[in-house]
Amino acid sequence: MPGTLFVVATPIGNLGDFSPRAVEVLKNAALIACEDTRTSRTLLARFGITTRSVALHQHNERAAVPALIDTLRSNGDVALISDAGTPAVSDPGARLVEQAHRAGIRVIPVPGPSAAIAAFSASGFAAEQFLFAGFLPSSATARRKAIAALERGSERGSERDYAVILYEAPHRIRATLADLAAGYGADREIAIGRELTKKFEEIARMPLGAALGWLDQRAQREQGEFVLVIAPGNGNRNSDASDADRVLATLLEALGPSDAAKLAARLTGQARKLLYARALELAGRGRRQGPDTGAR
Ligand code: SAM
Repeated sequence: MPGTLFVVATPIGNLGDFSPRAVEVLKNAALIACEDTRTSRTLLARFGITTRSVALHQHNERAAVPALIDTLRSNGDVALISDAGTPAVSDPGARLVEQAHRAGIRVIPVPGPSAAIAAFSASGFAAEQFLFAGFLPSSATARRKAIAALERGSERGSERDYAVILYEAPHRIRATLADLAAGYGADREIAIGRELTKKFEEIARMPLGAALGWLDQRAQREQGEFVLVIAPGNGNRNSDASDADRVLATLLEALGPSDAAKLAARLTGQARKLLYARALELAGRGRRQGPDTGAR
């Protein structure tokens, strides 16, 4: 029987988030493949894990994978960890996992912290879907292009209406927030997760137009680790969108979609074009439900 490859999540700040199962798996493995053996040394020592570790990072992954697959084939369990959070999520590891699958080796995740999921869960955006977009490109032109593509995909009424989760480094946070406000518009909401699970943890929600002001409120705000969650096109599904739906549904009892959208825009302050798309949807739904509940 070959060994098993365990993909193990580690804390993103708070050591209390290290699961007992993760510790057990790391203790019992023949080998731990670490993104950086020096970074992981402190964590492993703190939990009394003495398993031998080897480096597996983006620069040596191609070369290091065959030896790890050999270890797995010869009956040794290997545990894969990254510096923090879940391996292969904007971190190395996917190549090893892929090769293990190809070699018929069992792969078992040991789930736990991930900054993206932590931030999304605490954002309060009632999105049915999210897109994890990792880090945006570092050059300003490529970043703006990427933001424009993400924004087009999350327009209200689109089937691809989703929240977007991004990672960002502190030295680019200012430029990225400015580009996001320009690309999505100042009204779109963002949740900024900073230093999650750590001493100076913050999670703050605001319109994108207020994000740079939030950053300026405290000198140290521009330091640390950031996750950005951009609200889906219909932002506050819980409140604004359902209010607009109620207004539209009432107006549709007497008016066609175009007039209903025009009046609803005046009543709610929301964009007429988007309300028109929603009015068409609601009117269509009404017709499908039967003549008595039809819009007009
Ligand atoms: N694999 C990791 C995960 O599952 O979260 C992410 C690795 S990625 C190289 C590192 C980025 O994740 C940071 O630059 C930051 O954007 C985000 N991040 C990691 N820890 C964080 C934390 N405690 N608070 C906020 N963001 C964090």
